[in-house]
Amino acid sequence: MRETRQNGFSTRAIHEGYNPLDYHGALNPPVFLTSTYAFDRTETGANRFAGEQEGYIYSRVGNPTVSVLESRLASLEGGEAALATSSGMGAITAVLWTLLNAGDEVVADKTLYGCTFGLLHHHMKRFGVSTRFVDLTDPAILDQALSPATRIVITETPSNPNMRLVDIAAIAERCRKAGVHLVIDNTYCTPYLQRPLELGADIVVHSATKYLGGHGDLLAGAVIAGKELIDQFRYVGIKELNGACMSAFDASLVLRGLKTLTLRMDRHCETAEMLARDLEGHPAVAEVYYPGLKSHPQHLLASRQMRKMGGMIALELKGGLDAGRKFMNGVTLATRAVSLGDAETLIQHPASMTHATYTPEERLEHGFTDGLVRLSVGLEDYDDLKADLLGALDRL
Ligand code: PLP
Repeated sequence: MRETRQNGFSTRAIHEGYNPLDYHGALNPPVFLTSTYAFDRTETGANRFAGEQEGYIYSRVGNPTVSVLESRLASLEGGEAALATSSGMGAITAVLWTLLNAGDEVVADKTLYGCTFGLLHHHMKRFGVSTRFVDLTDPAILDQALSPATRIVITETPSNPNMRLVDIAAIAERCRKAGVHLVIDNTYCTPYLQRPLELGADIVVHSATKYLGGHGDLLAGAVIAGKELIDQFRYVGIKELNGACMSAFDASLVLRGLKTLTLRMDRHCETAEMLARDLEGHPAVAEVYYPGLKSHPQHLLASRQMRKMGGMIALELKGGLDAGRKFMNGVTLATRAVSLGDAETLIQHPASMTHATYTPEERLEHGFTDGLVRLSVGLEDYDDLKADLLGALDRL
């Protein structure tokens, strides 16, 4: 970028980290389909391995197409550096496995995406790491939850699937005082709606499979943090622990998705806000969880912390699980599928799908019912979505 002042978010989402004139004028970054890189001399390879000389070594550790995406994501999140990974779970495991040792503790919010919960609750303890799940919607809870063994606090906000919010600045302040890393999963918001690093978090993780990619055609993840941490995640987490590097081809698809991120997010948010109000007004609906609604218990926090209210809605029907099943079977435009953040509106049932890693008792304890239905509002016409969703509710 040649400008001296900082460009705006949309401009950086399109241009940051790439100058076509460096690559024969190619408007889009070339896809470097290469696993390895030639060294002019033996010493060059040795120096690169020793970290004494810049340059690519092997694509598990770095690739020029992936580097463009990494510098773009770092800029958009307001971080020093970024690491692109093969999936969101690849990003989360790279962070946790790099920073944790046997005997350490993690404090996590009580509602997390099912596989993050499964990793912490079922599997990390096999390696001697225990997790305390607490209700981080009250930041003061951290005062009792942190122990001398705590190394990481991890949370989503809004949480998947029930849209609870965590006050990032308040939690970050406590983590800073305790010398504990705060990790925020920013998948639901993207940096366009919320920038946790600016609010004091240390590490942001993403499933770039979702809004960042935006088209349901790839799996990808990312970590954004200070350069020292990112180097550790790259050279220990990805290089030696999980191997979850991003491919150049997927990086190119995410770069394409980022070009329209702000346009897509504006539209997701606008339609979701209208649909949330429609759903809330329907007699078959017991509860709508959407931070943009005044009825959301953390509506004020959402207005402070998020630029807009996002494209995700959760709802419960008066008829519970049975009604939820009929509702999902009754839609014809919305697609019954997991994942989120795509152009297509997706509808799914967390208890039997994305959050089946929780037992029924755990689901209740962790704050969501078996009747909860999750909606990822797509980019279709609002009137069509309204007719589809409200029509399915009318027919219950
Ligand atoms: N974090 C959140 C909030 C998610 O919703 C998901 C996936 O649904 C993940 C992480 C994991 O991402 P991926 O599926 O790209 O591994």
